[in-house]
Amino acid sequence: MSEGTLSRRRFAQTIGAALGAAVVAPDFTKSLGALAAPRQPAGSAGEWIELNSNENPYGPSPKALEAITHSERVASRYPDAKERRVIEAIAKLHGVQPANVMLGCGSGEVLRVADMAFLGPDKFAVAAEPTFEAVLAFARVAHSNGVKVPVTADFRHDLRAMATAGGEKAGLIYICNPNNPTGTIVTKDEMSDFFQPAPKHAVILVDEAYHHFVDNPNYASAFEWFGKVPNLVIARTFSKVYGMAGMRLGYAVASPELIRAMSQHKLWSGANAAVLEAALASLDDQAHVADQKRRLNGTRQWLCKELERDGRRYIPSEANFVMFDVGGDVQPLIRKFQEKKILVGRKFPSMGNWMRITVGTPKEMEAFIAALREIVPVKSARAA
Ligand code: PMP
Repeated sequence: MSEGTLSRRRFAQTIGAALGAAVVAPDFTKSLGALAAPRQPAGSAGEWIELNSNENPYGPSPKALEAITHSERVASRYPDAKERRVIEAIAKLHGVQPANVMLGCGSGEVLRVADMAFLGPDKFAVAAEPTFEAVLAFARVAHSNGVKVPVTADFRHDLRAMATAGGEKAGLIYICNPNNPTGTIVTKDEMSDFFQPAPKHAVILVDEAYHHFVDNPNYASAFEWFGKVPNLVIARTFSKVYGMAGMRLGYAVASPELIRAMSQHKLWSGANAAVLEAALASLDDQAHVADQKRRLNGTRQWLCKELERDGRRYIPSEANFVMFDVGGDVQPLIRKFQEKKILVGRKFPSMGNWMRITVGTPKEMEAFIAALREIVPVKSARAA
């Protein structure tokens, strides 16, 4: 371990004690892969039910598929001109300027370059615990520390605590709305309070990967504050409702200054031509987005009714996944589901007795519920 690492650790411990929050010192021995969802074994047949990564089982819009088929026309050329067209289309969708938009290799790249741009030694990334941890994992690459702020008793972001966690040393405050893995939202009123006044010392990164699934009238996208809060970055993705997780495209919307700061850490010409074609077609097919939302939210409601019927405790979700209490350590259960060729979400250590399950097709959810009733019989779930 180097001198630098030692002193950063000590710094983290001191600040952590002062804050009463969990400060995560960089641990370069822990690979980013450790945070990944359980995977189907390499080379296995395709009959697995994959409810582990919050993807959309229905895939892209037919118009996007059609566009991909024709992408051989652009395959031989660098994608820069096409990137500009996608940036313009995204800017138009959100009523902002192209200079406000940056593309990423999934929104994962947005989180990574935000960490690279706004963190560094002795700067903190502030995030809820639990949340999508990539932002904390990437913080380690930026030689930074994370401050984890536990969610409230009803599993929601504690924005008041997050606003001050890390003090002046907070470089980035990550708000995942809806939150992965809990599926809960930050309400419009809570966000309003948080932005009055907006913390000035840190960049506020609002990750809206699951925005499209929200039905709750108390929710508002961070776009409500765009232009009023200068240090705001909003991340969106084509991986969820658009059904293109394997094709890798996401984006950030922020001020031109923040976009420039983040873009320095990006690859040049980093988006492949086929996904750009698909994205243009997808943005043009908003009816498909509405249809996916209706289908997946309908299946989520069915899943929740079945959990209720069994008397299982679950967290009401505004996203395409649901967390429920399995009454004991979830890790051995994850393996039992794997034996039945069903992949479920990974263990989130601070909620070790809870399982996160992605909403699949109705047939997949029926198979999941049948397996659940075998693996965690109703009686033992009730006793929990
Ligand atoms: N943000 C959240 C909240 C996520 O859950 C995920 C992936 N599941 C991502 C970002 C990254 O997704 P992608 O890189 O595919 O856009």
